[in-house]
Amino acid sequence: VATRTPLMAGNWKMNFDHLQSIAFVQKLAWTLKDADHDYAKVEVAVFPPFTDLRSVQTVVDADKLDVVYGGQDLSQHDSGAYTGDISGAFLSKLGCSYALVGHSERRTIHGEDDATCNAKVQAALRHGLTPVLCVGETLEQREATENPAEVSIAQLIAGLEGVADDAELVIAYEPVWAIGTGRVATAEQAQEVCHALRGALAERFGEERAAQIRILYGGSVKPDNVASIMREPDIDGALVGGASLVIDDFAAIVRYRE
Ligand code: PEP
Repeated sequence: VATRTPLMAGNWKMNFDHLQSIAFVQKLAWTLKDADHDYAKVEVAVFPPFTDLRSVQTVVDADKLDVVYGGQDLSQHDSGAYTGDISGAFLSKLGCSYALVGHSERRTIHGEDDATCNAKVQAALRHGLTPVLCVGETLEQREATENPAEVSIAQLIAGLEGVADDAELVIAYEPVWAIGTGRVATAEQAQEVCHALRGALAERFGEERAAQIRILYGGSVKPDNVASIMREPDIDGALVGGASLVIDDFAAIVRYRE
């Protein structure tokens, strides 16, 4: 059985300016240090707004914090006339490890389709970033099908088109109806889809590789529901929105095993 290091990832969305991000990351690291958090057991990542990344990098480097970080999005292009967009090359240069791709808010508000997500996955990989490909169904889509994993699997397959078998990847299953709604999927519902996603990864990359790829659950994860979600065999961490903005809540999520 492959051992997958759990990943707890905080998606700040459009919250915290660069000064707030400095205070937050420092306090988070102190809180985890005070609690003697064993960083080897859980990887901690934050996804700040682009304008915070330089500040987060400075704090992480200066204090040698075991916190990694990434962009909430990236351009599918490397450089050029794309006003307002951010290249994976820039993220990489700022020490980012990850880039979110296809968060439901990007898909809905910015109209990003599977082809765009695929191009962004490829762009992340080109620049040495691990893409965190977000997939998940809306409530309408869940109610319209017998197979709750159908939409997520389709998004996964399309999002990973042309990706090499040994590419570093993280998948996040985020049922849209559970994001920011306080309506968390049950652990069984989350496991059912994550298990199906791992099956699709196995078909695509082979069993051995599929067993190494981390699949996160996201959607109203809080300190009081994280442990039951993490008990599921195919769930390897959480992508956390609201609760990642509250130090004690996010620290408790990171320390879900205690
Ligand atoms: C998210 O934005 O990825 C998310 C899961 O948000 P929340 O935890 O607030 O539901």
